[in-house]
Amino acid sequence: MPFASLGLTSPLARVAADQGFVHPTPIQTAAIPAILQGRDVLGLAQTGSGKTAAFVLPLLQQVLGARRSTPRRLLVLILVPTRELADQVGGVTRELADGLGAPVKIVTAFGGVSINPQMMALRGGADIVVATPGRLLDLVQHNALNLGEVAALVLDEADRLLDLGFAAELAEILALLPPQRQSLFFSATFADEVQALATALLHEPVRIEVPAEPDTRPDITQRAIEVDPPKRAQLLKHLIQTSDWGPEARVLVFAATKYATELVAHKLHRAGIHAAAFHGDLSQGGRRDVLNAFRASELQVVVATDVAARGIDIAQLPVVVNFDLPRSPDDYIHRIGRTGRAGASGLAISFVSPDTEAHFRLIEKRQGLRVPRERIAGFEPVPGEAGELDEDGLPAAPQGLDPNGGVKGKRKSKKDKLREAAARGG
Ligand code: AMP
Repeated sequence: MPFASLGLTSPLARVAADQGFVHPTPIQTAAIPAILQGRDVLGLAQTGSGKTAAFVLPLLQQVLGARRSTPRRLLVLILVPTRELADQVGGVTRELADGLGAPVKIVTAFGGVSINPQMMALRGGADIVVATPGRLLDLVQHNALNLGEVAALVLDEADRLLDLGFAAELAEILALLPPQRQSLFFSATFADEVQALATALLHEPVRIEVPAEPDTRPDITQRAIEVDPPKRAQLLKHLIQTSDWGPEARVLVFAATKYATELVAHKLHRAGIHAAAFHGDLSQGGRRDVLNAFRASELQVVVATDVAARGIDIAQLPVVVNFDLPRSPDDYIHRIGRTGRAGASGLAISFVSPDTEAHFRLIEKRQGLRVPRERIAGFEPVPGEAGELDEDGLPAAPQGLDPNGGVKGKRKSKKDKLREAAARGG
């Protein structure tokens, strides 16, 4: 078994095979032996690289080796930036542990939900905790958890942990951990502050760098369609209804703001397409419902913000649409990495307007490639039309949908206002 050659015991190698993992991914090949040797690891890898199994498999092996005592000691602490990632990493860990039939207790903890069930879950201890930093500290303050015997710390998506403002919480948590421990640091990007944290945290790390997805994933087709912003929702509807993506094809659409996700989902829904918005203002239960419906293909389209979409882990997501372009080339790579996972082919479509053309060129430059601009009949940009936007940079809101969540009438477009002014003789 290929996973056994990395130093995993045969039950662990079998669990990987049971997951359908035939060959280790590059990050798994590099990280698993290093982690088993107790080395610190600095992994530069994106979601989709197989990084979760790269740390979970060897850490499970270590936990099994060490777990002889009752009560349980918290041996592995995995810190993640979002609830979705906590759910996802906790889910992967639990699945692998269940496959072993091993009595490993894994507790997932994140904010935004009641702390009591998490405190109950921690009664009697846990072997592995997957948590967001703020809630972890709350649990420590409630004496639900003792970090004094943690043998391995994982920071997953360290760049996002810092982006989301967790630096102070991280420092507080690090101070509670034993200085003698193994630290594993995974990040998709390596900005100065990420570098600084890695330097402070890691002891002679094994550095593993997996190239950004487009290099390793020639199977993601990128398209750029020129369209004026007010016509994007119509174009999206048209593409969903007419493209040969397969009837079951699920589409993940990225929009810039929570309001935009609601608006776009609303427009698709009105056109009879099963679509829902996915953003940070939804309740935890609401988000879970959307993800479950999307996984079950009851929803065809999810319209998400970047932050909310971070944790969406869905195999075979064939199409990603950049309704709004992402702010940075890194975010673009994250976004399109949602498709074409694990050998499947994927399609990433970006809507580009005269206003965003220069920004898209930066994204192309960063990847060292040029995506041909396309135009779709009936949706070609018309000089002058692109300016017909409301203050959110979106077409006027439909009846009943207000950017602030209230209900109000249709907002007037610039053209309507001009027409009224003309009628008044102004
Ligand atoms: P991750 O980068 O951890 O989010 O993993 C991305 C996806 O790849 C997940 O759906 C995993 O189940 C899958 N995966 C992880 N390792 C392998 C492997 N060795 N072979 C095939 N798929 C894998």
